[in-house]
Amino acid sequence: MSSGALIVVVFALAVFWFMWRQIKGNLVHLEDDDLDDFLSNRMGEKALKRTREHLLRCASCKLRLDEMTKKTQKVKPDRWLKRRF
Ligand SMILES: [Zn+2]
Repeated sequence: MSSGALIVVVFALAVFWFMWRQIKGNLVHLEDDDLDDFLSNRMGEKALKRTREHLLRCASCKLRLDEMTKKTQKVKPDRWLKRRF
């Protein structure tokens, strides 16, 4: 194999790896824990960015986030009362 062909192969692999990473990022959905952390602001900078990017692309995770937001809003007054009394 000539060095020229080797460079082409390495380049093709790099492109493939990059595409695979993008595809994988789209396929792997957010966990409930991720959404929970996202809502309660417990995420690190990197995870937060990843979650935001996924939510922009993925309607089903956005829907789950909306549902969880509703639940948290329902739960919050209870917690507040318990803390108060
Ligand atoms: Zn998703």
